Amino acid sequence: MAGIRIDNVSKTYTLPDGSTRRALQTLNQEIGDGEFVALLGPSGCGKTTLLNIMSGLDTDFEGDVNFTGAQPNPVLSYMFQESRLLPWLSVRENLRFVLDGERRDQDALINDWLGRVGLSESGSFYPAQLSVGMRQRVALARALINEPEVLFMDEPLSSLDELTATQMRDELLSLWRQHRTTVVLVTHNPMEAVYLADRVLIMSPGPGRVIRDIDVSARLPRPRDAEDTRLWELSRECVRILQGKE
Ligand code: ADP
Ligand code: MG
Repeated sequence: MAGIRIDNVSKTYTLPDGSTRRALQTLNQEIGDGEFVALLGPSGCGKTTLLNIMSGLDTDFEGDVNFTGAQPNPVLSYMFQESRLLPWLSVRENLRFVLDGERRDQDALINDWLGRVGLSESGSFYPAQLSVGMRQRVALARALINEPEVLFMDEPLSSLDELTATQMRDELLSLWRQHRTTVVLVTHNPMEAVYLADRVLIMSPGPGRVIRDIDVSARLPRPRDAEDTRLWELSRECVRILQGKE
């Protein structure tokens, strides 16, 4: 299992004309093993930049990012706003694609994961034959099938209709309860952040800094009820902080 430590991380992009843009300003954070953390902030505040740095997709930054725990190189996984499935492969083949070819239990494992995300009947479909929500379910199964120690998610539910997103939030929570993967979720949806996360890190407009660290689990123990008015109050509190009113 793995946590993440972020020390003095800053990031400056260089634009094609040679000018520079500071995207992140001196971040220090510690994410615990098995913790579910949401990064919440307005568009352009540096959420994706921070996620890319934490996940190793971007290595051009100042400061240090280290995984804590027994393994220096834990198994990482990603999920994005678009499913990024390979269009020429069926659902089943998309899952097989990320599995170690040596595994002998591949078919059973794929069937198991198709069942967990409610797609037992859709294994032979191609991505173009699926709804956006179904594609994201495949992406979720693909992200978890190798049992990652850390899962990075960049607005994975943002392109779904609210009803589908609501359903997938519960599916995600149920899978997280079983696997206790460390999760870093980027979202601009305050309600989603407080419903899902143990902790919400609220970021300022660029250059991004963490302006508030909200310990949701201390205030709303799990399991949470999506209808709980305290969720709405906490979500409104996040909005006021984002608006600079609190
Ligand atoms: P968010 O995910 O919160 O919407 P991003 O991390 O994508 O924000 O972007 C943060 C800031 O960095 C924005 O001002 C954005 O325009 C800038 N930025 C992001 N990627 C690049 C890039 N590759 N080159 C230059 N500027 C970038
Ligand atoms: Mg982004």
